[in-house]
Amino acid sequence: MALVYCRECGKQVSDQAPTCPNCGAPQRAAPIAGARPVKSRGAAIILALLLGGIGAHKFYLDRPLQGLLYLVFCLTFVPAIIAFLEAIAYALTSEAEFHKTYG
Ligand SMILES: [Zn+2]
Repeated sequence: MALVYCRECGKQVSDQAPTCPNCGAPQRAAPIAGARPVKSRGAAIILALLLGGIGAHKFYLDRPLQGLLYLVFCLTFVPAIIAFLEAIAYALTSEAEFHKTYG
């Protein structure tokens, strides 16, 4: 536990305190919506092109089960073809649409 200075009155308060005991000002910044790291569309495209045959882009986009399927069938080269088409699809998807789907 550390002490920080109140943003309103300057009195020392615990950094765990949600509000200042002296003046009641909120001490912690409200969590910013959408602050979690977003997936890069460019990275997904590059992964699909270079390592798509083993499902790297699927693992990157938090689709590990799909990625596993790519990995299992990688020797058939079918996943590589699908990944290539997906790379094109990602490229054609708008940035906003991409983040809506994959975060
Ligand atoms: Zn205060």
